[in-house]
Amino acid sequence: MAALTKKQLDQLKQLLDEREQVLRSHLQRDTAAREEFVQVASEAPDSGDASFATLSMDLGNAAVERDLVELRHIASARCRIGRGDYGVCALCGYEIPYARLVAQPTAARCAPCQNNFERTHADGVSRSSL
Ligand SMILES: [Zn+2]
Repeated sequence: MAALTKKQLDQLKQLLDEREQVLRSHLQRDTAAREEFVQVASEAPDSGDASFATLSMDLGNAAVERDLVELRHIASARCRIGRGDYGVCALCGYEIPYARLVAQPTAARCAPCQNNFERTHADGVSRSSL
C-alpha cells in the first residue's frame, strides 16, 4: 500500500501534468523544425546538403522518440494512480519514497530496483528514460 497522502498525490499529479505540457511543446517544436528540414532536403541542390538534412532529421527523431517514451511513462503513472498502486515499486512491492517521486514522478521502481534494472538492461534506452 502506498503511504502517500492525498495532498502529496495531488502534487505529483500536478508534476505529471506540467511535465506532459513541456513534452508536448517539445514535440510541437520538433515537428515544426522537421517540416523545415524536409523542405531544405527537397530543395538541396547537391547530395551533400541532402545527406546533412537527413542526418539532422535522424537526430531530431531520437529526441522525439525520447519525448514519446516519457509521455508513455506519464500515461502509465496516471494509470497506476487510477488503480491505486502508484508509488509502489513494481518489482519488490515496497513504497517508493515521496522524495524520489517528486524528483521522478514517473518512477515505477524504487532506487535499488531501478539500479538493478539498469544493470540488467544496460542498453542506454532504459537509462535515459528511467
Ligand atoms: Zn523495489
